[in-house]
Amino acid sequence: MENYVTIAKFENIFEADLARSLLEDNGFDVNLLNERVVSLAPGIASSRLSLELQVLESQEAKAKALLTESENGSDTEYLLKNEGAILEGHFKLTSGRHSNLYIEKIRLLQNPLLAKTLCSRLAALITDDDVDCVVGPAYGGIALAFEVASILDKSFVFSQRKDGEMVIRSGFDLSEIKKAVVIEDIVTTGGSVKEVIQCLQDRNIEVIKVGALVDRSGGTVDFGVPFVSLLKLDIPTYDPEACPLCSAGIPITQPGSSDKK
Ligand SMILES: [Zn+2]
Repeated sequence: MENYVTIAKFENIFEADLARSLLEDNGFDVNLLNERVVSLAPGIASSRLSLELQVLESQEAKAKALLTESENGSDTEYLLKNEGAILEGHFKLTSGRHSNLYIEKIRLLQNPLLAKTLCSRLAALITDDDVDCVVGPAYGGIALAFEVASILDKSFVFSQRKDGEMVIRSGFDLSEIKKAVVIEDIVTTGGSVKEVIQCLQDRNIEVIKVGALVDRSGGTVDFGVPFVSLLKLDIPTYDPEACPLCSAGIPITQPGSSDKK
């Protein structure tokens, strides 16, 4: 009988499951070691045991190549679509323009294991930096920045708008914070993040990097510091008069909340 060999280890079942599905969908014979123990007591078990994804020895190289390809971000879009965070259809945006894609931001947070998975990918893009603190703008950035801070073992604060002005929530102790990273869910124009950067600079805190799950700015945004994202999404919008979806007679929907920022 051929041996199974471990090709990847995971801390959470969600991520392990994704990798397993990917391999199974591509015809691999897969075994997930420790699955039962970890799923029975996730908190306790995962600190001692990893979920080990195994394939047959003869399939090792091909399976690894497939996983690497997926880790390189090609599946972030798939995950967000699968979760309903990126919707495909025919939408009337708050600007009045039409689009075939809509980002339902709040869905990014509805599945905490997905959010954690994406945050660990984002944290991996920041881990080399010498930072004291991870900052998230309310509301979308709060949970994400908290998770990234937790992974990087840094402190966390959040900003919010007060009387129209972006401020760090009162009560946080900023005295030890010199260098910060700002984490946002979706960057469109980057306006909110720029306000956070300014507000931190006013308190002599240097922002050294900005990270977002989705960059939909089309490469137009400049924060003056490196900007990393898991997914760059070019979302075409159309004048209603010239909308190909309208021409095709596809019914239009108006999403309930704004995705503008
Ligand atoms: Zn249209």
